[in-house]
Amino acid sequence: MDIEYAREYLPFLSQRATLIAMYACVAILIGVFVWGVVRRVRAYRGAGRSLWADVNGRVLPWGTRLARAARDVVAQTKVRERRLPAVLHLPLFYGMVLLFLGTLVVLFYEDVLHWFGDFQIRGLFYVIFEAVLDLAGLALIVGVGIALWRRLVTRPEYLTPKASTLLILWGLLFMGLSGFGLEAYRIAAQPNEWAAAAFVGWSLSHLLTGVAEPSGTPTTVYAVFWWLHAGGAFALIAGAAWTGFSHLWVLPANVAAHDPRRQRTALTTPFDLAAAMESEEDVELVCGVAATDALAPAERLAADACVACGRCHQECPAVAAGRPLSPRDLMQEIRAALGADLGGCPADRPAADFEDAVWSCTNCYACEQACPSRIRHVDYVLDFRRALVDQNRLDEQKLGVLAALDRNQNPYKLPSHERAAWLADVPYADEVLFGVADSDEPPEYLYWLGCSAAYDERTSLVARATMDLLRAAGVRFVTLGPAEPCCGEPAKRLGEEGRFQMLALTAIEMVKETGARKVVTHCPHGLNVFLHEYPSLGFSIPAVHHTELLAQLVSEGRLAPARSSAATGVVYHEPCNLARAGRPEAARRLLRAAGTDGGLAAGAVAPGRSGGLRLPERRGVRTFCCGGGGANSFYQVEQEERRISGLRLEELLATGADRVVVSCPFCLTMLRDAAGSLTGRDVEVLDVAELLSADRHS
Ligand code: SF4
Ligand code: SF4
Repeated sequence: MDIEYAREYLPFLSQRATLIAMYACVAILIGVFVWGVVRRVRAYRGAGRSLWADVNGRVLPWGTRLARAARDVVAQTKVRERRLPAVLHLPLFYGMVLLFLGTLVVLFYEDVLHWFGDFQIRGLFYVIFEAVLDLAGLALIVGVGIALWRRLVTRPEYLTPKASTLLILWGLLFMGLSGFGLEAYRIAAQPNEWAAAAFVGWSLSHLLTGVAEPSGTPTTVYAVFWWLHAGGAFALIAGAAWTGFSHLWVLPANVAAHDPRRQRTALTTPFDLAAAMESEEDVELVCGVAATDALAPAERLAADACVACGRCHQECPAVAAGRPLSPRDLMQEIRAALGADLGGCPADRPAADFEDAVWSCTNCYACEQACPSRIRHVDYVLDFRRALVDQNRLDEQKLGVLAALDRNQNPYKLPSHERAAWLADVPYADEVLFGVADSDEPPEYLYWLGCSAAYDERTSLVARATMDLLRAAGVRFVTLGPAEPCCGEPAKRLGEEGRFQMLALTAIEMVKETGARKVVTHCPHGLNVFLHEYPSLGFSIPAVHHTELLAQLVSEGRLAPARSSAATGVVYHEPCNLARAGRPEAARRLLRAAGTDGGLAAGAVAPGRSGGLRLPERRGVRTFCCGGGGANSFYQVEQEERRISGLRLEELLATGADRVVVSCPFCLTMLRDAAGSLTGRDVEVLDVAELLSADRHS
């Protein structure tokens, strides 16, 4: 193909004057941009760990962090998780990047290579270049158009349009449209046989036939539009340091600062109590964030990466229940306090300002799962809670829980001598009770009962069913029974780190004493503590959820689950601490083994059965909270319009099921309470272990 036509540089404009003016603007622009970046980075300065260190102060390898940031940006990993945001953001992002790169290529050819020879964008490269840039411009306009439509017309509740975001979107739209307008004018005035390569500009050029000046004639209208177009580009680039458009670089920086090795459900460990007690010097146990000024640099950067997309708001159970918390607003308020945007002024906000919000949080991690900026909202919630504990701002309910943990080693405010009293009635109790069981060998597993099974009659049946199954499969295990202490989770989630570590150190010593090689627990919260909190206190032991161990036993042929009538008409509610920790599969496998089908789509019924397992719309990593996490099981949030458990139960029952299967004692309690308040409908809530057990205790 012989294509001789070359792209003309700055048509209809005085080249010399335009170039001088343009590069003068670029120099000013770079200065304004750098000034904005420096101002922003200064706003990230604060106490605590550096931007690039993990929660334990270790600096992460640069290769890992850069690879992750690049993957998130180039592949738009998080954006692609949701269909509608993907439909608008992918064309907008890739279109903008291609147009920016295209502009750089033109400048490179014309203002750099041109000095070294006859370099021009010509021939086949010209044709492809024009077509690709037109496609990019079209994509940009489509993406911006959808984004504006959502903010101005459909206006979903979770997407509050910010003035600065709208200004940027209008700016981008103007850039796209004015770019095509200039191109159309150029083609109309200087037609050539390959002009159709720029297919959008070429199509529009037909509208300008007779309007555009003849070839080569400078026009004032064209020059004015060209400068408006260039000025718009300059303003957007400068704005990327001074407005929310800064997410172009702040978001990747936050992803790079993010520790990919830290599990979603793992909390931070601000101090080492054991080391402090052993130290001969006075060690100040600093904990919590008393005001936004005390936020660590990494937390400031993360808050600044919030683009107010509202995904977290959309997923948050506290929002759904009408509680005074929106993770989006929390991040935006902290972001505003940094004062990094144009016209912003740093303003210190005390933890007390966020009091109602942080006690409304169930630590369900739905916000973190949804967030495209990889913000860890629960860290802020916990840091503010810790400060509120430190300031003695707890109400009677929470103080009562902490006092009970101190006094009775359980959050239920029940006497410690009543702990696991039911175990005495279990026929094989002597064989599984540590210290009583007679064995030469240390047990393979310690079955950690947890406070719920120890004190709540209903949950104790789950423990019974689990023990029955473990025995039937020939697993060598013990329990600590009445001697078991609280694992400390309620104290940790309430922000009482010192009390948590005291309880944890006791628990760790007792686990060590049993000599067990592994821990199994039916409580995902206890599991999380064993897997992610105790290791930061220097103790690690393999730990599994009872569904994981039971699934393994079934797959090894050591356990044959009963395929009872309880397996029909079942919907499975996945607990946040398992599903969002990436461990949802074992329970689904077990449910299939019990005669249900965990692979069914929402609301579907297994063909050929009178019933079957149903999964609610929100499942897997998008599961919806029961309302019991984050120590919410132990206090009442007064400011709410609906109970979170009631909302979830509605979703579960909308599948047509009349049995709800859970795999967490908090979910069991919360959903049973919600089921109990239903009128005219008999709903059974039971644990996976009970469904599997031939001899159910419900
Ligand atoms: S952890 Fe759950 S309850 Fe808390 S802010 Fe996030 S989504 Fe809302
Ligand atoms: S915190 Fe994340 S999900 Fe929530 S609005 Fe900000 S960017 Fe969106």
